[in-house]
Amino acid sequence: SSFKEFSLSQEILQALSRLNYRQPTLVQAKVIPHILKSEDIIVKSQTGSGKTAAFGIPICELVDWEENKPQALILTPTRELATQIKDDLTNIGRFKRIKATAIYGKQPFEKQKNELKQKSHIVVGTPGRVFDHIKKGTLNLERINFFVIDEADEMLNKGFLDQVEAIIESLPKDRVTLLFSATVPESIKQLCHRYMNHPIDIGI
Ligand code: AMP
Repeated sequence: SSFKEFSLSQEILQALSRLNYRQPTLVQAKVIPHILKSEDIIVKSQTGSGKTAAFGIPICELVDWEENKPQALILTPTRELATQIKDDLTNIGRFKRIKATAIYGKQPFEKQKNELKQKSHIVVGTPGRVFDHIKKGTLNLERINFFVIDEADEMLNKGFLDQVEAIIESLPKDRVTLLFSATVPESIKQLCHRYMNHPIDIGI
């Protein structure tokens, strides 16, 4: 199969070809059509499966360049992963000139605050620092259409679930929620039940 089977713009197809992504991985083939239809999904998948591009491709496709406030918020358990995702999305969105920003702990707050004042279509971060920016009013969530919880089981292991929940409470109700996790323990099932809209289960 080919990425041309999805309805993607030339800008995105060109970026994928430049990245040498010739065909969708299994998780991408299963996930991309649902996200393009703005459906909530729970995806059981491992790192290395191409899951970043599975949400990154449709999100970059649907981002409106003109909008100045962030449209997608992605939570990850580590700063390394936040940086990796920011880089991947920047590459996928290259020809749409999509700006992704990473915010995480142990980096000066002021620097991130200034970065968030510039146009950022996509914000990727760790829960603690993201919540700090929400509390201080330096991250505007009014226009968030897409909310991604990546490696949800790792968030649980690190004790981040309460912060994730506090962040969800601050988001617009009218949004798409995408959850990725290698395993789906009971507390994550409950989180999905509370905060997702008829999520579709996708096992790989
Ligand atoms: P991830 O599971 O998101 O960490 O991705 C694992 C690796 O696969 C990353 O290095 C990606 O750049 C690469 N990758 C993702 N999608 C594709 C694809 N469709 N074709 C080739 N490589 C890919």
